Amino acid sequence: MKLVKILLHIIWIIFLTIFTQVGGLIWIVTLLFCKAKQWKKRYVFSTLYLISNLLIVPPLAKQLGREQLPILNDNLKPRNLFYPLLFRNYVTPDLNALLKKSSIELKKDNINITYLDANFPFYNGFPLLPHRSHNDGKKVDISFIYKTKEGSTTDKKPGLSGYGIFVNEENYSNKSCLKKGYWQYDFTKYLAFGEINTVDFDAIDTKKVILSFLSQNETQKIFIEPYLKQNLGLGNYNKIRFQGCKAVRHDDHIHLQVK
Ligand SMILES: [Zn+2]
Repeated sequence: MKLVKILLHIIWIIFLTIFTQVGGLIWIVTLLFCKAKQWKKRYVFSTLYLISNLLIVPPLAKQLGREQLPILNDNLKPRNLFYPLLFRNYVTPDLNALLKKSSIELKKDNINITYLDANFPFYNGFPLLPHRSHNDGKKVDISFIYKTKEGSTTDKKPGLSGYGIFVNEENYSNKSCLKKGYWQYDFTKYLAFGEINTVDFDAIDTKKVILSFLSQNETQKIFIEPYLKQNLGLGNYNKIRFQGCKAVRHDDHIHLQVK
């Protein structure tokens, strides 16, 4: 019985580490606290978790070279509060500065930047799954821009998570990658967590966001699906690449990475 309990703790620690990086460590500290004091684990964990999230990790990460992206800034904000709450919105100071600069520039056009997964706070090489490359603070996923049925630009996004609702269900890369056996290529369709808004892809404003990133020297690469690159008239920009079949399809978000 005791062995089962230990095993469950280990599974829970691994789960927390995979999804939040520091959550597993917070659970270990919780266990030590509760052993000494007989307190209720769930209360101790929630308290420690919130204190870490709001007060301990941000300054510590900054010391080690990563900053938290803004949370309550209207022009540059997370798709929902789970991103900051799960420690998934950390980037290098350069990437933070780039996004802030673009967000100020795009404000004139009434466009706000919404970010999705970025990186965890610590340690180069620790991946933020399921993203293969979000492991060094230099990568961030950005939502497309959408418009209402009446045609006005909106901050609303089609899905709850920001992933998994594609501009064109049918697309050549998707077909050919799946055919080659890369079954994970459209896996993000299971990660939308509900289609909550009926909005249309705004090609013009999404292009403005991409051009604003491209105008900054720090930008190294941007991934979007090849058909979108063509349809948006961005064929001449060689910083916009195809991410390859080993990744997932990029017609639900923009992947941005800096040098
Ligand atoms: Zn990405």
